[in-house]
Formats: sequence, C-alpha cells, structure tokens
Amino acid sequence: MHYVSTRGGMAPATFSDILLGGLAPDGGLTIPDAYPVLASGELASWRSLSYPDLAFAILRKFATDIAAADLRALIQKTYTAEIFGSEEITPVTPLSDGVWLLGLSNGPTLAFKDIALQLLGHLFEQALLKTGGHLNILGATSGDTGSSAEYAMRGKRGIRVFMLSPHQKMSRFQTAQMFSLPDPNIFNIAVRGVFDDCQDVVKAVSNDAAFKARYSIGTVNSINWARVAAQVVYYFKGWLATTERDDQTASFAVPSGNFGNICAGYIAKRMGLPIRRLILATNENNVLDEFFRTGVYRVRTPDQVAHTSSPSMDISKASNFERFIFDVVDRDPALVRHLWRQLDTQGFFDLSITPYFQAVRESGFVSGSSTHRNRLDTIRRVYQESGLIIDTHTADGVKVGLEYREHGVPLICAETALPAKFEESIIEALGRSPERPKGYENLEILPQRFEVMDADVNDIKDYIAQNAG
Ligand SMILES: *Cc1c(COP(=O)(O)O)cnc(C)c1O
Repeated sequence: MHYVSTRGGMAPATFSDILLGGLAPDGGLTIPDAYPVLASGELASWRSLSYPDLAFAILRKFATDIAAADLRALIQKTYTAEIFGSEEITPVTPLSDGVWLLGLSNGPTLAFKDIALQLLGHLFEQALLKTGGHLNILGATSGDTGSSAEYAMRGKRGIRVFMLSPHQKMSRFQTAQMFSLPDPNIFNIAVRGVFDDCQDVVKAVSNDAAFKARYSIGTVNSINWARVAAQVVYYFKGWLATTERDDQTASFAVPSGNFGNICAGYIAKRMGLPIRRLILATNENNVLDEFFRTGVYRVRTPDQVAHTSSPSMDISKASNFERFIFDVVDRDPALVRHLWRQLDTQGFFDLSITPYFQAVRESGFVSGSSTHRNRLDTIRRVYQESGLIIDTHTADGVKVGLEYREHGVPLICAETALPAKFEESIIEALGRSPERPKGYENLEILPQRFEVMDADVNDIKDYIAQNAG
C-alpha cells in the first residue's frame, strides 16, 4: 500500500515514511492510494479473534512495509489487560435495548486517544531504533491529547516530549495527570496564557525549518495517519461484539471534534464493515454538524469557539476533515486545493450547490449537536436507566445517537472519556461524584514537575535546545 497527499503534491510513500510526519509536504493530509477491501468471508473469520489479533489483521493491511512479526509484536505489547484494564481492550456494555456503549477509555489517561497513541509510542520507538535517530515531540494541549501523548511516549528510547499547556487552566485532574509523570524524557511547559497562545508558539517553532531540522522536532497531533489507522480496529470490534450475522448492520454514534475518531469509522465502512450510519455528534461548536446538515463547511475564528463542558470537542475547524472531502470530490487534489484556498480566503466552502453533496448524503453520515443542558439530561437518563455514569463527551454522542436510533439496528455509542476526568459536570448532573478507577485516587497529591514560562517563542526555543535529545 502506498500513501498520497490529499493535495496531490507528494510522491507515493510507505506507512513508515509517513509515520513520524504531520502534514504532507504540500500541506495536505496523507491517505492510502486505495482503501483495503475485505475479502469475502474475512469478516466472519474475525469473530473469534482477540483484540490484538484483530488489530494485527487490520493494521497489516495499512502498514504493509513493516515486517509482520515486528508489527504483531508491537501490537501485542500495546493492547494488554494491564494497560487497558481488560482482555477485551474496548468492551461493549448494554445501555438499553439495542443501545451499546463501546468503552474506549480504559487506557492510562482515561480517554479514547490512548488506543491510538499507545501504539504510536511503540511504532515511533521501533522506527527510531532502526534509523538510530531521535525525536523531540512538541505539542500544545488543553487536556486529553497532551496527557495521552505523554503516557504513550514516557520512557521510550530516542523520544522526548515537550508539551505546552495553559498555566492553571486545565482541570486539577488533567494537570495532575500530566505533571506527576516522573519520567525524565517528559517536559511539561506551563505557559502563562490560554491554549491558543500555546498553539501559536508551537506553530512559530514549527515554521522555523532550521530549528525544526536541527532538533528533530515532530508532532503527534490528530492528523497523524497511524492514529487514524489504529482507531479503525475498534469499529470492527464494536460491530463484531453486537451483531450475530455477517450481513447485519450497526450504527455508531461518535462525539466529534477534529474528525479523527469518526474518520476511522468511515474508513472501516469503506473497507466493507457493514456500518449503517455514522452518527456524528458535536457540542455547541457545531462546525461539522452544520456541514452535514447544509453542505457548508464554515470554520470559526478562535474567539468564536465556545468553552463547553465537553472541552475536548471545542474546535474551530476539524483537522482530519480533508481526508473525507478528498473522497467526496472523487479524489481530485486540484479541487481539494481549491476548497482549502477558499477556506483561507473566505472562511468557508459550500458543497450544497455542487453534485458532490449527493456523495456526502450517500456516505452514511448523519449529524446532530448538544447543549450543556442536553448533556446533563443524558447523563441523568443513562444513570437512571442503566446505573452507568457516562462523561459529558460520551453524553453528547448518546444524545445525538438516540435521535437516529432505528429498530433492529444496534446503536453503538463511543465512550470517549471516563467520567472521573470531568467530575464537576457529573456532580452537577447527579449530585455525586463518579468513582475513580483504581490507582487514580491520590493523583492530585503526587509531586508535580513543570516549568512555568511566558508565551515567548525564543524563551521556549532556548528551553527546548537545552533539553532536547
Ligand atoms: C479528542 C476527544 C474527542 C474528539 O475526537 P476527534 O477525533 O477529535 O473527533 C471526543 N471526546 C474526547 C473525550 C476526546 O478526548
């Protein structure tokens, strides 16, 4: 399998070539030149597989240039009961008749991002060992991504992580999770400012090509292809766990921000997994819901982004969306370039007036959004009906999912974080706090390591230069 850019300006590359990269050199996103399609009977033969075996069966189709034995070993090291809480890795739990919760949040940071990032940690380490190189990962986070990346990269040879976060603006739990890591290859930089200040510094450093090359600066943000590929696996897992016949369809409800998670569901569908609907749920920041309803993709400016009780979905634009649009426009890179130029100049593009909107309609996507009140109501409703406590992000997905529920079609709702991460909203909804998983009880009293700095590009570059591997 080879990878190309959605903007057409990259020579075909292998999985390993694009593994450590972010954007394609032409500013586009990397994508397989053709999706692997399941052979007849293949899906049926996967019913008895363990999660690691299923992951290997799927990922070997994408990572064709990694030796099978190596890939299998990396996958087996990643998806263990010790790290993900159970052999199931992504267990399904019934919520009500025909409605299931797909538990994606049992990894070390209690959010679904661990599923891909834990694998990425091993893939990166292996790739660097082969080349003898090293990597300094630079990122900005307002919560989930940063901690997931740090827990994936901690202790990995050849890798250091420099993670910028807004000083005193994350939840106590999230702060403690990141700052209590004792590993010497993890560097937490608490920036005096807001998340956008952190992101601006990361952009400025990344735009300095000489600095970037000299210090082997890399990223692990949500556009990384390997992250998307790793997420494809649990769509298969969810479908296999909730269906009995191989021609049976199921629908997935996915709380969405950057379109990384649900993009993996879309790819699973393209591979031949019988997904009926991909139900995309947003919070008040409804850029994507608006697109699927109207055909207009209108990005927001940072000051138009609302701070909500599902903060990991507070986005101004969806960084993986270009992968889907590439398919919608029949993989015409010139058209993708044209649309993204329109985004830069006028802030939106409109497919409703083109024949391509039909392709959007036929893609299986439907969408909806939720408000803070909707999420609290849904948390209460699920608690009353099932005794389970779900977090605010998951609640967003369940709320929209139920609006599209169909008789006889399993509705699989992605659980993207555990409620312990967002205690305040749970107390607001239920008048009680959620239980914390074992081992997290005393998180906030552990010693913390972090450097407080101004949002000054030169200061932060100096800090990286002094501490880089
Ligand atoms: C990142 C995140 C999301 C959004 O996922 P995308 O891949 O960006 O669409 C939803 N919920 C939680 C808890 C997250 O951390």
